[in-house]
Amino acid sequence: MQGAFRLHLQALDRLGVEGFEVRTAADLDRCDGLILPGGESTTMSMLLESQNLFDPLKAALDGGLAAFGTCAGMILLASEVADGRSDQRCFGALDYQARRNAYGRQTESFETDLEVTGLDEPFHAVFIRAPAVEALGDDVEVLSTHQQEPVLCRTGAVMASSFHPELTGDDRLHQLFLDLLS
Ligand code: GLN
Repeated sequence: MQGAFRLHLQALDRLGVEGFEVRTAADLDRCDGLILPGGESTTMSMLLESQNLFDPLKAALDGGLAAFGTCAGMILLASEVADGRSDQRCFGALDYQARRNAYGRQTESFETDLEVTGLDEPFHAVFIRAPAVEALGDDVEVLSTHQQEPVLCRTGAVMASSFHPELTGDDRLHQLFLDLLS
């Protein structure tokens, strides 16, 4: 609907996987897994509703569609949103509360190297007005933290990052997501 999807498509392409933009419920039927990109979650929520895609997408996620939400996508996958718009909706695909723009004015955007479960070397992560996740449910596995706070988590084949993994040309997190599909 909106946001930083192009670089995700390029990452999938480099990994030898066919990616395409999902803009209708029919597109949704053709995909094995969905990346919800960074951008503006309030706008995405509104557009998903006005384009009649929110409910089909919710049904697909409830039915077990694999998903990787990055930044705004992490917010959309949450069971609750803090500091959002009052009419903002989320999918409840991962059991946490996402707090929008949680990293504050001083550090609205920053970069850091993260240790990630499943990767041998640190991952250079770019945080842009990133969300924090709070009140994690027991079934949410934390794959990486920054200053003791979870920034990459997963339940089954649904994964979410506070940061933008598509910006550095390092495709290891996309590969980790693809591995969840097989
Ligand atoms: N702050 C944005 C939001 O609330 C997310 C920022 C991003 O995706 N880089 O949706």
